[in-house]
Amino acid sequence: MRAISKVTSDRLPEIPGYLKLDGSGGLEDRIREAHKHLSRCRLCPRYCHVNRLSGQSGYCAAADRLRVYKYKQHAGEEPPVSGTRGSGIIFFSGCTLGCCFCQNFPFSHNRLGRDISPQTLAGMMVVLQEQGCHNLNWVTPTQFIPQALEALKGAVQMGLRLPIVYNTNGYDSPEALALLDGVVDIYLPDLKYALAGPAKNYSGRKDYPAASQRALKEMFRQVGFLQTDENGIAVKGMIVRHLVLPGQLENTFEVLRFLAEEISTQIHLSLLTQYLPIWDARRFRELNRRISPQEYETVYQWVEDFGFVNGWVQDYFD
Ligand code: SF4
Repeated sequence: MRAISKVTSDRLPEIPGYLKLDGSGGLEDRIREAHKHLSRCRLCPRYCHVNRLSGQSGYCAAADRLRVYKYKQHAGEEPPVSGTRGSGIIFFSGCTLGCCFCQNFPFSHNRLGRDISPQTLAGMMVVLQEQGCHNLNWVTPTQFIPQALEALKGAVQMGLRLPIVYNTNGYDSPEALALLDGVVDIYLPDLKYALAGPAKNYSGRKDYPAASQRALKEMFRQVGFLQTDENGIAVKGMIVRHLVLPGQLENTFEVLRFLAEEISTQIHLSLLTQYLPIWDARRFRELNRRISPQEYETVYQWVEDFGFVNGWVQDYFD
């Protein structure tokens, strides 16, 4: 990974945001609000309005039961998230998008995993803390926000004190993000597309650019720039990921332009160049290859030209 610049340490909040809510009963209010989505789901911009409590399910196929694929200590995230002891990853099953190049398709699209109770999830969170993880990293959690908040409350009662990382595809509704304000400490969203054409072709949602840009602005309003502790470990803020797709540099340019002009060149950017034509991507001829060295260098130059000063660019993979 090539660092765009060194991560800086700032003066830090002492406790995660959800604890402040928990003491005032605010977390309970959020749980109550969140559960209304189970009877009329608007957690992502698809706004399916399905009643998940009565057995209906929308695009993501999530019903009323929480479904989790795996939880584990993980070292492969950005340096301030993985730190030295790893991030406590929880992979939720299902997804609100349908990206043809999804690396997580076994549990995102095929929904591998098992149905568990919020109490069981609370126990997983505490185990990850006991293993020494720096944070809890909820991966693709949008469709299970109500149950995750309920689990969080139970975990806090069992002594959980870790920051919450919300690791999302960026396709979150304003209603979903309102539930997380003051609960999530670190937003780790993708910004996959800024152009409607590739968003529709490769992920099935031409509204993704507008929806994700609105979502990222709200996430940034809630948590601001990345803050790290004296050891460089993230405690609050936002890191934006963008995966460079082959032959789609115009899209990458517009993603960078949006971030630079409408959020800030000071944000932490994580530019991913690891794209592999897997799962359903091979049916698109233009996606059936890795990015070229020329594409890599062009994008790297744009990062410098736009003036981004924080974050990382993955090394080029042959
Ligand atoms: S989270 Fe699932 S059910 Fe809810 S609006 Fe999105 S796709 Fe539909």
